[in-house]
Amino acid sequence: QQYLQRIEALDPQLNSYISVTAEQALAQADAADTRLARGEGGPLTGIPLAQKDIFCTQGVKTSCGSKMLDNFVAPYDATIVGKLHADAGMVMLGKCNMDEFAMGSSNETSWYGPVKNPWDTTRVPGGSSGGSVAAVAAGLAPAATATDTGGSIRQPAALTNLTGIKPTYGRVSRYGMIAFASSLDQAGVVARSAEDAAYVLQAMSGFDPLDSTSIDRPVGDLVTGLGQSIKGLRIGLPREYFAEGLADAVRSRVMDAVKVLEAQGAVISEISLPNSPLSVPTYYVVAPAEASSNLARYDGVRYGHRAADAKNLEDLYKRSRAEGFGPEVQRRIMVGTYVLSHGYYDAYYLKAQKVRKLIYDDFRRAFESVDLVLGPTTTDVAFALGAKTDDPVSMYLNDIYTIAANLAGIPALSLSCGFVDGLPVGLQLMGNYFDEARLLNAAHQYQ
Ligand code: GLN
Repeated sequence: QQYLQRIEALDPQLNSYISVTAEQALAQADAADTRLARGEGGPLTGIPLAQKDIFCTQGVKTSCGSKMLDNFVAPYDATIVGKLHADAGMVMLGKCNMDEFAMGSSNETSWYGPVKNPWDTTRVPGGSSGGSVAAVAAGLAPAATATDTGGSIRQPAALTNLTGIKPTYGRVSRYGMIAFASSLDQAGVVARSAEDAAYVLQAMSGFDPLDSTSIDRPVGDLVTGLGQSIKGLRIGLPREYFAEGLADAVRSRVMDAVKVLEAQGAVISEISLPNSPLSVPTYYVVAPAEASSNLARYDGVRYGHRAADAKNLEDLYKRSRAEGFGPEVQRRIMVGTYVLSHGYYDAYYLKAQKVRKLIYDDFRRAFESVDLVLGPTTTDVAFALGAKTDDPVSMYLNDIYTIAANLAGIPALSLSCGFVDGLPVGLQLMGNYFDEARLLNAAHQYQ
């Protein structure tokens, strides 16, 4: 009830929720009480949670931030929704705002309007999980689910003083998570601390036979090891992540955090990820290509927005898609179909796949000599609403430090390492495959 009251009082200023499921939340809370009274349930039973509106929730609208799905009510729950609510007993408060189909870095592409950053409501909260982070940062949920295709968990967590983790690709099921770029999409969590994030990630993770890319490998215990010392932990600082383009004040906060970790016994060294400059261009071929294919399903026939008074089938497709998708989604579909088309496939898509392998190789080499890679999450603090909406390329450059982890499929986390002029600064830690526990431990020790 307390969270629902805060949402009602404060969310009109932030716009962090698309749907608030008050009645259902109170019923789930009652059920949690009953479970706990019987001595059943676990550490998360009865704890409220907000869901990014990209996860299918049976009986509750799942819009993905798009007019295309404004009328869509999924007939089933995403695997993680079942795991967190039915199994762990968390209470769903509602569905969070997001960039349309998770395409964006500022939550300004949402059909439901932008989300404001609670630290300064003239600024963006980051994206695409802008609603998730704004809700948690403002105390409208203790934690929220989020997804990360190129940075959408870590960049918004950085801009709002939260901890956000994108696990290893395949660690968390994508079943019932609306697809953007399937080889990059990964679900995770944003929370106020690494410890909170560890509990939620633990409950979300695990093999799912309904997702063909899910990994059948034990998750291990993400929580018990949080208190371990980081003495001897080898942390590499890639020189490419501290080069031109990084704001001086951000660099200095990140270096302060490095000193704190060093004082705790971490062994710091400089490393190189030489192909880093190629990650943004590679991503902006691979992600739109996959998106153009995934979004072909929205044809106005099966579900989603359908244009009125179509003259024939082709007209129905064209008008439903023109009306249902916003400009950024249309731009991605155009780029994606272009790079996949005959004659351009080799020059763009195949080339991007080859470069992706080089980026992966950089990390493989790095993890031969270090345990974690550390750098800034973003080049600067949260920018003003509207500042980059007319310039897609400058918006795309927001993900310069986060995209490589998606291309390689490795886990990565962002945590706050201080403030510049009252605005949060994020520190990014990247780990080797399946090293979520180590990432969370390092973040928890710092916190
Ligand atoms: N900002 C990136 C994009 O627009 C990443 C989004 C994401 O991770 N979902 O594609």
